[in-house]
This record gives sequence, C-alpha cells and structure tokens, in this order.
Amino acid sequence: MSAQDTLLAALRETARAARIDLVGVAPASRFQAVHPRRRPEAHLPGAQTVVVIAMRYPKALWELAGRTPAESYMSMSMADSMGMRTMVLLAALDLSRVIEDHGFDAIPMPIDSYRVHPYKDIPDSWHTPFDNDVAAAAAGLGELGLHGKLITPQFGTRQQYTSIVTNAPLPADAMYTGDPLCDGCGACVKACLMHAFSPDAVTDVPVGDRVFRVAKRDWWRCMWSQRFHLNAEMGPKLHGMNVTVDPPDGKITDDDVKNALRIKGEKGGMQTWYTYAMRECERACIPPHMRTQG
Ligand code: SF4
Repeated sequence: MSAQDTLLAALRETARAARIDLVGVAPASRFQAVHPRRRPEAHLPGAQTVVVIAMRYPKALWELAGRTPAESYMSMSMADSMGMRTMVLLAALDLSRVIEDHGFDAIPMPIDSYRVHPYKDIPDSWHTPFDNDVAAAAAGLGELGLHGKLITPQFGTRQQYTSIVTNAPLPADAMYTGDPLCDGCGACVKACLMHAFSPDAVTDVPVGDRVFRVAKRDWWRCMWSQRFHLNAEMGPKLHGMNVTVDPPDGKITDDDVKNALRIKGEKGGMQTWYTYAMRECERACIPPHMRTQG
C-alpha cells in the first residue's frame, strides 16, 4: 500500500471512530471559482488536498423539531449549538493530527464563522473564511442546491460538515454524477419567511468540472432570523418568545440590527436570551429520490 493510501486509510478509520458518516477528498484545483483569499492555499501555503467530513443529524430530531405536541426546538438548538458542530470540529482536529503524524501539515476549517462585512478584496457581507459547501461538492459528497448548501444522496441536507486543508497529496474522490439532487423545486425559497432568496437571480458556481445553479441569498435578511432570531415564526415563538421585528425594505445595516435587538429585548424579556431559529430552507429541501420515502 502506498504512503498516500496508508494515510487515507488512517483518516477513514479515525473518521469512522468519531462517528463521521461521510468522508470525501478533493484536490485544491477544484476551488477555481472560490475567491483566492478563501481557497485552500490561502489557509495553508502549498495546500494540495481538502478532506471533507460530514455527520448526519438524527432523522427524527431534524424532521420533527418543533412539529410535535411538545412544540420544542430545544433538542435541535442543543444539537446545533453544542453537539453537532463540536463533534464535527473535534473529528476535524483528530484527522489533522493524524495527517501531522504522517509528516504533513493540516488545518481544520471552521463551521459557520462569519465576517459580517466585506474584508479587503472580499466584497461579500457575511462571508466565511473557507467555503465548506463548495469543498463538500468538490470532494464528491453531493451537489449544491438552489439554496447554495450541500445536498447528499444519503441524507439530503440533514448533515453538519467541515473541511481539513492539507499539503498531503491524497488521491481525490470523483465528483458526484448520480441523479440530480436538486431539481429546482423551489421548496427552499418558499420555506424562507425572511424572503432572503432571489430565485430569479441565479448564479453559476463552477466546482471542478461541474457547475451548480445557486440562488442569490440576501445574507442580512437570512441572519436577521438565523443569527439574531428576530422572526418569532422561524422558531423563537416555540421558546415562548413571540416578538418579531421586521427588517427594513432594502439594505439592512448594523444599526437596523442593533435597534431591532433592543426592541426584541424590551418586548421579549428574559426569553430573548434563549431562542432558536430553524434553517427551514434546508429542512424543506428533500431531494427527488427521497420524496416518496416516509
Ligand atoms: S428545496 Fe428544491 S430547489 Fe431548493 S435546493 Fe432543495 S431540491 Fe433544490
């Protein structure tokens, strides 16, 4: 067995021991459409490979959160804020150390860590330092949906995932070429009560030799609910916090968010500190081959 295959086997075994469900390997060359400051080599000079790992959410937790007589998102909130991200990041640290034990360098990438404003030559608001969705598609785990998030044939959107950037030359996985996982049904767009998606403003996102069509997302509108929990219907009302502060039409600013949070705090009381907002665009996304399954 070659040194590369030995390392890959050690990585897959470490991932399996960490209860990781999916592992994929992408060459750095498949990130051609990603901003240079967000590419693998921007994080690790000499990067050659990106290893992507994904862990599924328990099916009942994901599908039933907030939809049973308990009317509770608290298990989902705990899983999201304390469980899933932590377990996936700890696994990424483990894999990085295994790569180091084999004589190479590796850096695990963060999950859902954002710069709110454009940064130097990166023009986008709410951008992450590394694109785990492009990485997952590049590593053959699945496709990018209209919502821009990963869809896998095994779990649809029901997974948490991150990447490990390394200068180890590992054999890459082929990109996904199965039946389409996104058929443009639009359920994701309809499920977003913030109207953050512009389904008519679709961008082509090249990844390796594939191109994915992704709808423009107004991240300020998205985070108005996702990060600041300012729309009670998207989850907080099931924590008993019934305050919704609508965003202004047009461009949203820091001051708009600060004012809205002040209003929410005044009207919502102590519960404003303990709420959760479900990613309904992702939960509404059921790939075609899964739609008949219960
Ligand atoms: S909900 Fe439909 S349109 Fe949206 S990503 Fe999923 S399959 Fe594509």
